[in-house]
Amino acid sequence: MWFFVEDGRWTAARSCPSALASGTWLLFGAGQRDVVLVRRARVVGQRNLVRVRRVCVLTSSSRILLDAGDPNVTDYISHLKRVIMDERIFINDIIVSHWHHDHVGGVDDVLDAIENGKSCKVWKYPRNDAPEPVLKNATLQELKNGQKFVVDGSTLEVIHTPGHTTDHIVIYLHEDKSLFSADCILGEGSTVFEDLYDYMKSLQLISNINPSVIYPGHGNIINDPKERITMYINHRNQREAHILAALEQHPEETFDEMQLVKLIYKDTPEQLWPAAALNVNVILTKLFKEKKVAKENAGWKYGQTASL
Ligand SMILES: [Zn+2]
Repeated sequence: MWFFVEDGRWTAARSCPSALASGTWLLFGAGQRDVVLVRRARVVGQRNLVRVRRVCVLTSSSRILLDAGDPNVTDYISHLKRVIMDERIFINDIIVSHWHHDHVGGVDDVLDAIENGKSCKVWKYPRNDAPEPVLKNATLQELKNGQKFVVDGSTLEVIHTPGHTTDHIVIYLHEDKSLFSADCILGEGSTVFEDLYDYMKSLQLISNINPSVIYPGHGNIINDPKERITMYINHRNQREAHILAALEQHPEETFDEMQLVKLIYKDTPEQLWPAAALNVNVILTKLFKEKKVAKENAGWKYGQTASL
């Protein structure tokens, strides 16, 4: 059952309402003691894609907020305050899934808005590639892989899943076998990643956990996690196979990313080629790590015989 707030009224629906208006905020759950998602929906193009979600896990009166969205979203903050008041709850911990602004950006606003903002802890897995985001009102507490938050019958486990970013984590709710995937797996389309090698390993890790449902950071709830993860893996493998095949057909030549884009992304509009080239670079970097391609004269080549 979905519970959502629209124009200040609480409404219940059997499934996720398909025609959500911009700025609608949702509260998802199956009763007072279950998982509650507070999120904001926005219609994007023809697809009713829920762009940004904030998740609030119900655990007695003390709650954990997972991700805080963008900064300066006043309607989110006012809805969150109303939920806190209506449910007579307080947020003791905020877990941030990764450093991107649409997940960490709103933390200061939330801390400003809640009564216990000074004592509320903000948790995040450390980055290893750049400095951490700076918070005005809190110091980041370091999350560890496997760390558990146990509260009133709910066990939340932090699982490090790098790839989208180096610091990305997902949360596994043991009692429900549900997984909060943030940006690792989305409700619609495929995600972007900084490191494909790590990303594929993270997908496999989630597949092995075999959750019964996935609550993504963007998009709709995924009720067939196994199929969705397999789809993600197959899509990536396909692109990778095309690149490898193109290089294998010309084993004596070296290629740069854009040359490969012109060979492989023939049907993609030309203005998207620079973005596709970045994608090709990430795939080639993975293949290089796996010793399937080599770098030579600032280009890429099939096999591992050539050196830098
Ligand atoms: Zn992200």
